[in-house]
Amino acid sequence: MNGQKVRFSLFTGADPDYNQSKRSIAPHVMGDNREDRVMDVYYIGIDLGGTNVAAGLTDETGRLLGKFSRPTPRGAEAVADAIAQAAREACRAAGIAPEAARSVGVASPGSIDPAAGVVEHAFNLGLDHVSLAQLVEERLSLPALLENDANAAALGEFAAGAGKPFRSLVAVTLGTGVGSGAVLDGRLFTGFNYAGMEAGHMVTHRGGRECTCGRRGCWETYASATGLIRSTREAMQAHPESGLWRFAPTLETVDGKTAFDAAQAGDAAARGVVEAYTADLACGIINLIHLFQPEVLCVGGGVAKQGDYLLGPVRALADREEFTRDAARRTRICTAELGNDAGIIGAALLPLYR
Ligand SMILES: [Zn+2]
Repeated sequence: MNGQKVRFSLFTGADPDYNQSKRSIAPHVMGDNREDRVMDVYYIGIDLGGTNVAAGLTDETGRLLGKFSRPTPRGAEAVADAIAQAAREACRAAGIAPEAARSVGVASPGSIDPAAGVVEHAFNLGLDHVSLAQLVEERLSLPALLENDANAAALGEFAAGAGKPFRSLVAVTLGTGVGSGAVLDGRLFTGFNYAGMEAGHMVTHRGGRECTCGRRGCWETYASATGLIRSTREAMQAHPESGLWRFAPTLETVDGKTAFDAAQAGDAAARGVVEAYTADLACGIINLIHLFQPEVLCVGGGVAKQGDYLLGPVRALADREEFTRDAARRTRICTAELGNDAGIIGAALLPLYR
């Protein structure tokens, strides 16, 4: 079985000889069940967020056939009800009965135990040791799986986005923090205790900015949108003459675009912010490449909308600092492709990549 092969093999990074057969991982595609080959197979994916519950129905390639989103209530029973309702509405939008789906996967924020189907803590949703998978199964009469939201987003990008032609991918999302996930040799990497991976909390600046996790100098305190906004505000306070103030008249109006907009307009202080931000982002990305040597590393989240203006310099730094000298065997650094759908699609396809 594929899982055993991965379990007992030594991980060495991307296999350049690998061809596009990775979709044969799905057991029902790989096996001899002829009925499965001709039947359409559907999966429900849920992205449980602090603001919205987003649901989607996909086929086995991760193609979204129907979607539905609604506000997230607070409390275990209400969240489970909202998930079931959003799932049914997504199926209705696709014109397919919910019973036709094989499973429902839920991507949840917070601390998750996927094996037990339990959300250990997601305090902003009012969830504390909740058997969410079981509550969802009771409501939809479908097998339910649970995964951390950043891991699900990485799986979505791997299966249907930036990682589609490849066998290994690392996904990084620049938001309030830095979300991260990895699919290595076709399997979602979670660590033995499912707490992996939290690249945002690797220290890139020892003794640096205080992080919500209790450490100092975590990558996300610099490379997240929050970190960028903080650096932008610091530059504005240090440079009252800066053109940054034209793009954000008050410190409260600074967002993840302010420094990029002012830098492109030629402001020196803004350029300093962007250069430091780019170098900090690249530092963590190169660390991840050194560790995993994935075929592709994709960057998502609001800040990634800067596209090549951001990733061009990151690639140049990576070219200089990577161990791999052969250009054809280097990790491809690109923007994520699925946006907010990555979590839904990854959650839906969880049973195929576990
Ligand atoms: Zn941290």
